[in-house]
Amino acid sequence: TPVIEFRQVGLTYPGPPPVAAFKPCDLTIRRGEFVTVVGPSGSGKSTFLNIAGLLDAPTAGHYLLDGIDTGALGDNDRTALRGRRIGFVFQSFHLLPHRSALENVALAMLYNGVPRKERPARAREALTRVGLGHRLSAVPSRLSGGERQRVAIARALVARPSLLLCDEPTGNLDSANADTVLALLDELHADGMTVLVITHDQEVAAHGGRTVAIRDGVLREQAPA
Ligand code: ADP
Ligand code: ADP
Repeated sequence: TPVIEFRQVGLTYPGPPPVAAFKPCDLTIRRGEFVTVVGPSGSGKSTFLNIAGLLDAPTAGHYLLDGIDTGALGDNDRTALRGRRIGFVFQSFHLLPHRSALENVALAMLYNGVPRKERPARAREALTRVGLGHRLSAVPSRLSGGERQRVAIARALVARPSLLLCDEPTGNLDSANADTVLALLDELHADGMTVLVITHDQEVAAHGGRTVAIRDGVLREQAPA
């Protein structure tokens, strides 16, 4: 079963005037793929992210996540599915400033059904996986930008999602920190994680095993370099 399957999925904002921000398309992303989505500002990347991340429902077509037809779900079931199957990584790390790395990751498990007693151990495991096993008690202000993003990635991984959905994950980082974050995404991919990175940065886009481009709401597969 593919992780993501779009069958003529599209989204038109109702307006007025209506804006066809994401034109109907088919897209299949299989387990273990590393896919980058590239496009200039205004091309429809956020719209795509919101659909793929179950934040917005498409206005056309069918979106299957892990084989589940998401169009058939009510709000509560969509939210639960999002929490369990998708780990989000954003440009700004959205860490709680007065909480340790461990607490930031453990708190992410409040809503996805991990029993309270297991949370600290799961958080430690996720932070160790991103190379921060020695920084568990550090608050964000004591961490570098790259380390903060790694905490955010640990937080995204802790529910053991099927998909890691990253929106400009290196957008706030200098090139050295960006490289460590991209290297981490490579490592997770090598371990079997399905990774989807949305970016306007051609250099980051070149990182994926497969690149799709969005332009004026039209998604197209890019030929391998
Ligand atoms: P990107 O993330 O690539 O910058 P967006 O997905 O944000 O692109 O936007 C795609 C198009 O949809 C743009 O023309 C934008 O102005 C339009 N758009 C985005 N959000 C809305 C909305 N809520 N209502 C109407 N139009 C929107
Ligand atoms: P930008 O890239 O524009 O700086 P972000 O990447 O930080 O913005 O966030 C993108 C969108 O996702 C924003 O609308 C933000 O409110 C939302 N968002 C950020 N963090 C979370 C989260 N942990 N869960 C759900 N939505 C979030």
